[in-house]
Amino acid sequence: MLLGAIADDFTGASDLANTLAKGGMATTQFVGVPATEAAAGCEAGVVALKTRSIAPEDAVTQSLEAADWLKAQGCEQFLFKYCSTFDSTPQGNIGPVAEALLDRLGADLAVICPVFPATGRRLFMGHLFVGEKLLSESGMEKHPLTPMTDPNIRRWLRLQTRGEVGLITLDTVRAGPAALTEAFEAERKKGVRLVVTDAVADSDLMTLGVAITGHRLVTGGSGIALGLPQNFRRAGKLVGKSNAKAAAKGPAVVLCGSCSTASQRQVAAYLKAHPGLALDPAKLMDGSMSVDKAAAWVAAQDGAAPIVYSTADPVSVAGAQQSFGREEIAAKVEHFFAGLVRRLVDSGVRRVVVGGGETSGAVVEALGITNMSIGEEIDPGVPVLVAERNGPLGLALKSGNFGADDFFEKAVERIGTA
Ligand code: ADP
Repeated sequence: MLLGAIADDFTGASDLANTLAKGGMATTQFVGVPATEAAAGCEAGVVALKTRSIAPEDAVTQSLEAADWLKAQGCEQFLFKYCSTFDSTPQGNIGPVAEALLDRLGADLAVICPVFPATGRRLFMGHLFVGEKLLSESGMEKHPLTPMTDPNIRRWLRLQTRGEVGLITLDTVRAGPAALTEAFEAERKKGVRLVVTDAVADSDLMTLGVAITGHRLVTGGSGIALGLPQNFRRAGKLVGKSNAKAAAKGPAVVLCGSCSTASQRQVAAYLKAHPGLALDPAKLMDGSMSVDKAAAWVAAQDGAAPIVYSTADPVSVAGAQQSFGREEIAAKVEHFFAGLVRRLVDSGVRRVVVGGGETSGAVVEALGITNMSIGEEIDPGVPVLVAERNGPLGLALKSGNFGADDFFEKAVERIGTA
């Protein structure tokens, strides 16, 4: 393994793995820190953690455990991936984890760059923008867990760190890799270990990628990974073929527990050509709908790639939450999808498309999947995933608002054949 990444959440890990696979690296996504060695031939490994909103000391412990495992796999470079909106609080977890990783890896300096131009996240003079708006006016200031009330990333990060935080601005980035290397050296001489670095376009990330070639630790959003595969390729270290082949063969099912506006459109589009079972949370609660009944319904659809969905409009969701409790209903629905997917895969389904971040987590956990190879991209940020479960099992895991209206149809086709 050449590049080892630690992601602070699950769908962010897929997004990063997708970027690395597109860049030509044979990439595997791991669910938590694996208990066994990585398979030979894996060039980039992404360990998906859920450390964004837990206590800083727990985030540090888990991240170091992941780093130790990646180190044992022979990685030359390490990447700490967080959200491109820099989701964190004055306590962490980006600062504490980054400093702990520097210490553990024996590195003296790491770049901080949450930039992801494709989704409008750009950094100028150390200030983070979402589209035309400053981060703190983008809606992120009202985030329930990590309200981002300061767009000045250097100042915000300094609240979380022991050491000083540096800044390299866009003019230096645009002056090219040599100027950037010099600027990093100047920060290093000052004893600064974390350096916020501007970028507003993919080309800036490519320049930055060259300048951080030898950096033991790199940190950022998935955009920071754009410039990394080229370094390994230039050094002749990449074998060549990257994406896992869509090898899954067999019946398909779509399971959607996401109620986002994109998911509502995607479910409606898919229902035009496929049978669907709408899951009424009230029926789950009173026991009149069950995994048994849903599994029997799927079996009766005879290869038509049916969809089972709890997707509902905000008014229905609010109604169900009011009647049964927000957490109770979510747990019940997730538990249902977990039980259903296990039953379906055990009875021969080989292609599973899932809508919803939490729902995806429940599905992957229920199937006992510990690692997945990254295949071709279906829509931006959502790749085909191939897991091993009595033969290749094709998956697509889509978080809330990702994907075009025809996402489910495309995903079913791209992850394998009937
Ligand atoms: P997204 O990625 O769109 O946020 P998630 O799967 O992460 O989707 O979250 C959706 C949450 O809503 C899950 O916990 C799911 O169990 C719950 N849920 C799904 N359908 C309903 C519904 N009809 N009513 C209430 N809660 C629901």
